[in-house]
Amino acid sequence: MNIILLGPPGAGKGTQSAGLVERHGMKQLSTGDMLRAAVRDKTPVGLEAKAVMDRGELVSDEIVSKLIDDNLAAMSADTGAIFDGYPRTAAQGEQLDVILAKHGRSLDNVIELEVNIDALVERITGRFSCANCGAIYNMNTKPPADMKTPTSPDGSVPCTNCGFTKFKQRPDDNEETVRTRMDEYRAKTAPILPGYEMRGIVTRVDGMSGIDEVAAAIDAILT
Ligand code: AMP
Repeated sequence: MNIILLGPPGAGKGTQSAGLVERHGMKQLSTGDMLRAAVRDKTPVGLEAKAVMDRGELVSDEIVSKLIDDNLAAMSADTGAIFDGYPRTAAQGEQLDVILAKHGRSLDNVIELEVNIDALVERITGRFSCANCGAIYNMNTKPPADMKTPTSPDGSVPCTNCGFTKFKQRPDDNEETVRTRMDEYRAKTAPILPGYEMRGIVTRVDGMSGIDEVAAAIDAILT
């Protein structure tokens, strides 16, 4: 099973991918996570991508498609892939078809998380993650279990998943960059949907409902 989770920044692609990995043993292929790791490790790709990511613009198609190709090459053929944040342009969509064919795979589903873009800015600026295990939280909608008041975590609240008490926020999760990322989504990513629709593989899910409801809707599509 090879699926694309499509939706603007903050639609819940990362959260839902993590659930799919846990429930179905699939592998999440997030180009955003791969690029952040490259920036952290100061690799040539990371050094080239950092400024572009900080502005909220898109990294080159060649760089992200190579990351996907390399990751698929390292995966066993019977592990399902969740494409999270890729493809983001028409060119990447075409490259994905070529890469999948090369690895003997094909696309089964494109799941679009439908969201109210205005509500997303608040969602994104409220999100943070565990600095150890990467579990994703939100100050308003999904704080760690022991966080009684929805404020910024003060370092003494443990991560529900691993107990670590340090959290981090993505540098590009600020209001100005989020607006640029939304514009990029509208201009370059949303236009790739009609092509998938013509192939009859798009299913829409209400991404504004709760995390568990969205997960159940996705599972219903995959079974
Ligand atoms: P994400 O974690 O998916 O929100 O991605 C964070 C940032 O990484 C984006 O704002 C882009 O700068 C870059 N990025 C991630 N995936 C892609 C992609 N498929 N194409 C181009 N840039 C990407």
